[in-house]
Amino acid sequence: MSFATLGLSPAILKALEKQFYNAPYPIQEQAIPAILKGKDILGIAQTGSGKTASFVLPILQMLQTKPLGKNRHINALVLVPTRELAVQVGQVFQAFSNALPNKIKSLAVYGGVSINPQMIQLQGVEILIATPGRLLDLVDSKAVYLSDVEVLVLDEADKMLNLGFKEEMANIFKLLPQKRQNLLFSATLGKDVDTITEFLLHDPVKIEI
Ligand code: AMP
Repeated sequence: MSFATLGLSPAILKALEKQFYNAPYPIQEQAIPAILKGKDILGIAQTGSGKTASFVLPILQMLQTKPLGKNRHINALVLVPTRELAVQVGQVFQAFSNALPNKIKSLAVYGGVSINPQMIQLQGVEILIATPGRLLDLVDSKAVYLSDVEVLVLDEADKMLNLGFKEEMANIFKLLPQKRQNLLFSATLGKDVDTITEFLLHDPVKIEI
């Protein structure tokens, strides 16, 4: 199997070469074509499976064809449980975006650091990677608008629930437009993940690695 068979554009294929990604991992093989078709995804996958690139690549490709955002309206929102994961996912978006002809601005925001620099950096950001509490603070401050979110990713959904972000997540979902694509990744399944899956995902493609 090669990346070229998954429906990725020549620009993304070139970016993959630059990052020395030679062949897709199983989760990428299954998730990338489905995401490019606009499907919702339930991905049961651990860290190390290659789950990050499985949503980063199709999101970058889908946003390549859009006019560049000039305001504070986000097109893709990635919710993560921790600062570490926010930084890590942000770096993957950044690395691939830098290798593309149409750069797409992404930003990772998380709590525990001053909010003001994040507010300033948000101008023109199309892809936001955020921990739930800090995202809500930025929304309250009118530094972020979620009314144009087309793709929502929940990364490590089980950990987000275990850390007690259930209420924050529910408050964020209320701010999103009804019509959107939802990608949920979790290392484990369980009652809370099942509830959120049923609430969030429409006819999802289920991928278990
Ligand atoms: P993740 O599970 O998303 O944290 O990815 C685990 C590691 O695998 C990261 O260091 C990625 O850069 C790397 N990786 C992901 N997909 C590929 C691939 N198709 N080829 C080579 N390395 C990859």
